[in-house]
Amino acid sequence: MQQLGVIGGMSWESTASYYRLLNQGVRERAGGLHSAPLLMHSLDFAQVAALQSSGDWKAAGALLADSAQRLEQAGATGLLLATNTMHKVAPVIEAAVSIPLLHIGDAVGLALQNAGIKRAALLGTRFTMLEDFYRLRLAERFDIDVRIPSEEQIGEIDRVIFAELCRGVFTDESRAFYLACLEDMRAQGCEVGILGCTEIGLLLEGVEAPLPLYDSTELHVQMGLDWMLAGD
Ligand code: GLU
Repeated sequence: MQQLGVIGGMSWESTASYYRLLNQGVRERAGGLHSAPLLMHSLDFAQVAALQSSGDWKAAGALLADSAQRLEQAGATGLLLATNTMHKVAPVIEAAVSIPLLHIGDAVGLALQNAGIKRAALLGTRFTMLEDFYRLRLAERFDIDVRIPSEEQIGEIDRVIFAELCRGVFTDESRAFYLACLEDMRAQGCEVGILGCTEIGLLLEGVEAPLPLYDSTELHVQMGLDWMLAGD
């Protein structure tokens, strides 16, 4: 198996899901006592979130590039950046290392394309929903028409991610709000919902949603597993 480097801690709530799902996936695919050969560098999310909110993407890119280099030096032969939002600086990370970065947007885009989906609702942080780096990738590489919620809904979805989900708080009220947003998007013609933030799956786990859901964490993990086990 290939040794995968995971840049995590954004937040650790979802990095814990990555760790569990990668190991479960290797056990399912390889059997026996096999588990995932991983190297993980887990950051302090307070530092990352402060750089996000001050708009210092240059420093955020440098921080993650440093993390990627450490993982490469430690022996990782591929990288997973365990968050959607920080893929905003994916080009900076890619330029800093000589190993591949398995892009979360490609994991989502490929799954939607394979399912023949043309129009999808995107839930994530305000950066992921409003900026180009994620939506444009899905549009240009996978021909997906990505729709986002109303301005007011974007504000509340983002608030819940930082004030609750990244702190391990999962409430019925926020769950109902996210489902109401998805219902609005369904009424606007979206075929599916993209959980484009790695903690949303924790909030909506086991819940019946108005739309089929594509969870970026799960799809990214599958991409990591395909890569780790390719050729085995
Ligand atoms: N984990 C989240 C994501 O997938 C949000 C945390 C962050 O802003 O990095 O975007």
